[in-house]
Amino acid sequence: MKLIECARCGSGELFEEAGYAVCAYCRSRYALQSGEIPSRETVVDLLLDVHVLLQKCETDPTNSYRYASLILDIDPTNQNAMKYLR
Ligand SMILES: [Zn+2]
Repeated sequence: MKLIECARCGSGELFEEAGYAVCAYCRSRYALQSGEIPSRETVVDLLLDVHVLLQKCETDPTNSYRYASLILDIDPTNQNAMKYLR
């Protein structure tokens, strides 16, 4: 597998899962395309990530700031995430 970097957090720790490269650090998913810089998946999948991260804010309040920051990387206007940054 071609070594790639996460476009969101810069981590080089990506593993392959069901045809996608998944960042071990921030869990970004990238479609594997030979010889190309990985591109983000569709908006639908990004919204799914936001949903999962919001749940983590609720269930893991000690790390909610970090999760909220990741949500705002995906969706800078997300009101639900902003309340965790206050
Ligand atoms: Zn990452």
